[in-house]
Amino acid sequence: MQGKILIVDAISTNRIVLKVKLASAFYEVIQASTADEACVAALRHDPDLVISAMALPDCDAAHLCRKLQQNPQTRAIPMMVIGCRPHADTRLQALEAGVQDVMLKPIDDTLLLARVRSLIRAHNTAAEWRMRDDTSRALGFAEDPADFGPPGQAVIVGAESAPIGHIMDQLRPALRTSLSWSAPETALRDLTPGKVPDVFILILEEDDSHSGEVLRLLAAIRATAITRHAGILVMQPRPDPGLGAYALDLGADDLMTDGFDKKEMSLRVKAMMRRKRIADQLRATVRTGLKAAVSDPLTGLHNRRYAMPHLARVAEHSAATGRSFAVMVADLDHFKRINDLYGHASGDAVLVEAARRLRENLRGVDLVARIGGEEFLIVMPATPLPEARATARRLCRKIGGTSFVIPGASEPISVTVSIGVTMGGLQGKQLPAMDRDANYLLDTADKALYEAKIQGRNQINLARPAA
Ligand code: GH3
Ligand code: MG
Ligand code: MG
Repeated sequence: MQGKILIVDAISTNRIVLKVKLASAFYEVIQASTADEACVAALRHDPDLVISAMALPDCDAAHLCRKLQQNPQTRAIPMMVIGCRPHADTRLQALEAGVQDVMLKPIDDTLLLARVRSLIRAHNTAAEWRMRDDTSRALGFAEDPADFGPPGQAVIVGAESAPIGHIMDQLRPALRTSLSWSAPETALRDLTPGKVPDVFILILEEDDSHSGEVLRLLAAIRATAITRHAGILVMQPRPDPGLGAYALDLGADDLMTDGFDKKEMSLRVKAMMRRKRIADQLRATVRTGLKAAVSDPLTGLHNRRYAMPHLARVAEHSAATGRSFAVMVADLDHFKRINDLYGHASGDAVLVEAARRLRENLRGVDLVARIGGEEFLIVMPATPLPEARATARRLCRKIGGTSFVIPGASEPISVTVSIGVTMGGLQGKQLPAMDRDANYLLDTADKALYEAKIQGRNQINLARPAA
């Protein structure tokens, strides 16, 4: 059997027609006539793909997609939708909800089957990595990945022309991803590890003159070690099912059959970046064991997953040695304004620089971890109160005292931080139970931080000792 497909459609003739097509290509088919039935069937049969009608008796396809995503057991199942003639809004809504493709009737069988093959192939590859990655689940990778991953790189490949310029201009503001252009013949030249695009957007031309070259490039991207995991989106100027099916079979992940549409392309590129990020993370975890699972990709600092058990160990150690330790939460002030004023990429650059300044101004034995968007946890073992206070003040000055030079802002910008500090183990070896509790310590430092914010920001605040 090639794979298992769940068809969801209230109209039984539609289901039967589709079932015949899929069964003749050796797929096992399960059917449901409502979204509720589909959720039950998806849980019971664990299909490799869901193909749904756009409108269902109990909700629409976008809603069904969200429902499937809400359940960890069904969230990884890819979904495509079959709709009737263009209703641009519902189509975009479905893509926005996470549906991987919307095909419009009348459906070309060759293209349909190529699409199905490509979705199932991608799903199976991801599933293999998930299976090999035993630890990732235990560590919570089934959770939503952070909304703010590294922005990534996309490249538009096509002959230099006015339409390409137009696509670049339209797409650039809609994406967080950096976007560049390359001619087909140079797209794979000069690529070095670390500078490899996450997504290739291959543009087929109206006059077909470059199609052969672009499709050869597609196959080469898939066959080249450093690019084979990249996402590939192919855009056709107008529907050509044979060529579209060929592109999918050569390894394209996604296809736009009907020319450029800014909203649609940006949704597809974003979805592709997101899937790529998850897949990269899975591979990295398998490859480097726990390292990737415990670090923050943007700043390179440890993440919360690492920091909390570490804090618990420092507290334990303090109970054994009788030496006090300091716990701080540092939160950048009015960080949202930086994003709003200069853009998200500049915000990211500020985070990277702030992380660097914190790291550089602490001892090797201290831990600094990124535990939230613009929030850092600092754990200083074997530290008396005066030293903790002096360190917190120094960190505050290191951030607030020198402006940040970042791309996207013409002038250096002023950034400040507020820091809440709490001490553990001040009573020597008689460490109270709460001083051993990492969550309690974090909570206390957080409350102290909150006070620092209220008192005007750009300052430190010490938690009052518990009574
Ligand atoms: P306050 O001084 O009270 O801390 O105000 P604030 O604006 O710093 O705090 P708020 O919690 O309102 O906003 C934090 C913002 O940080 C919101 C979110 O968009 C942004 N953010 C979170 N993670 C990231 C990230 O990884 N990159 C960027 N650029 N922004 C992020
Ligand atoms: Mg903040
Ligand atoms: Mg915050």
